Amino acid sequence: MTVIEGPPAEFDLTREEGRWTHQWAELHAEVITSGLCTGCSACVISCPHDVIGYEHREGGYRPFHLEDELGPSDCSHGQKGCTSCTRACPRFRDWEPAADEHLFGRTREVEEIHGIAEQTLLVRAADDHVHELGQDGGLVSAILIWLLDEGYIDGALVSYLEGDGSTWRAKPGVATNKEEVLAAAGSRYTYCANWLAYDEAMDKGLKDLALVGMGCQTSAPPVMWSRKIGKVGKPVKFNIGLLCSKTFDDRIFDELFDAKYGIPRHTIKKMNIKGVFQLWTHDGGYHEVPLKECHAWTREGCNHCPDFAAEHADISTGGIGKFNDWTLTVVRTELGREVMTRMAKAGVILVKPAEEDPAAVALMDRLSRVSRNRWPDQAIGFPKRMPPPPPKKPKAAPAPAPDAPPATPAGG
Ligand SMILES: Cc1cc2nc3c(=O)[nH]c(=O)nc-3n(C[C@H](O)[C@H](O)[C@H](O)COP(=O)(O)OP(=O)(O)OC[C@H]3O[C@@H](n4cnc5c(N)ncnc54)[C@H](O)[C@@H]3O)c2cc1C
Ligand code: SF4
Ligand code: SF4
Repeated sequence: MTVIEGPPAEFDLTREEGRWTHQWAELHAEVITSGLCTGCSACVISCPHDVIGYEHREGGYRPFHLEDELGPSDCSHGQKGCTSCTRACPRFRDWEPAADEHLFGRTREVEEIHGIAEQTLLVRAADDHVHELGQDGGLVSAILIWLLDEGYIDGALVSYLEGDGSTWRAKPGVATNKEEVLAAAGSRYTYCANWLAYDEAMDKGLKDLALVGMGCQTSAPPVMWSRKIGKVGKPVKFNIGLLCSKTFDDRIFDELFDAKYGIPRHTIKKMNIKGVFQLWTHDGGYHEVPLKECHAWTREGCNHCPDFAAEHADISTGGIGKFNDWTLTVVRTELGREVMTRMAKAGVILVKPAEEDPAAVALMDRLSRVSRNRWPDQAIGFPKRMPPPPPKKPKAAPAPAPDAPPATPAGG
């Protein structure tokens, strides 16, 4: 989908002030049909009238209105004053500074290209089993297990694979103990709207939740809190972000991996993205698919997403860098630091400074810049605020031919 309409120009780089009156009609025009909607599902779970639908499957991942009364672009509850969906949406109007100010008490400086951060570390789970099951260092799973043990949370919104995992279809779900956390470990590179497990968590009577998700999902809690959404935002007590430049449509399994490479989805054991799409199969095989071949299956909701580094989480985690089995970890909030410090003291995690891999941090900045550049010019421009790109390295002069005369010295 191309961006057909952005917010009116007068909103550009202005902050929302006064009473919040925005409702579904504005969300539909400015986010859902403009190309900004990521499909995070925060509006869906926030609707007190249950009139927002969502299909969690290929070609879906976008909210729609369930009532016929006023058509897809208007809402009778909105007309009567309901504003929950726009209060929840981490792409509506001035969402980025709203989230920054709520979490950090200030907005991001332009130089803070991967967002406001206290510390950047390399971390792995000390427990070998947790480490082994994790995608990178197993840190996310280690945090969830520790938060459950220590009573910070009584459940977490995570992503599982449906059935026995052979379809590789991602499914949002709730983890309430170590076994469930570990059953959800690892990464799926198709979309999983973990927020959709919220109702299951409420049905189970859970009160204190961790949210795991890519930036599109983890920006929702601070936006909700900032816009005073009320009880929906309250249970989220810890917010774990996953670095992310895109997710793929589920059709990539059949249309690329199987059709071109002869790798049916049920044969896949694990996947990762490290410059190429890596696939390990149950028979011990290993395959690499060039990323440029995968781009055609990029999920539509990712095309304009400006947030690579999951900037509004307590802790953001990624797998870039030279240490494959460590998690690159951006500690953003005081709570994030408290949890990491206590976990390190308890010996639950092993920590080393990110300075041991400066290229990983440089790559995080580069990828953050690429994502920020995807934010459309028509939309409110905060995510586009960036320092000028670093100067390009001059191309190395071609080696002189063996019989060429020596180069003239500078100034000579
Ligand atoms: C779609 C996606 C894209 C990513 N892209 C990048 C990237 O470009 N660069 C980078 O450095 N890192 C990226 N990551 C993050 C990386 O893959 C790891 O998730 C991260 O390093 C944490 O590893 P871990 O071993 O600590 O986590 P683990 O202990 O393995 O825990 C991972 C957690 O992520 C949840 N999860 C898995 N898949 C999904 C999904 N599709 N949607 C929502 N939640 C999910 C699981 O439920 C689990 O709780 C991406 C992750 C995902 C899910
Ligand atoms: S970005 Fe998320 S909250 Fe906003 S409209 Fe899309 S699904 Fe709803
Ligand atoms: S690129 Fe990642 S963070 Fe952005 S919308 Fe897509 S899945 Fe969400």
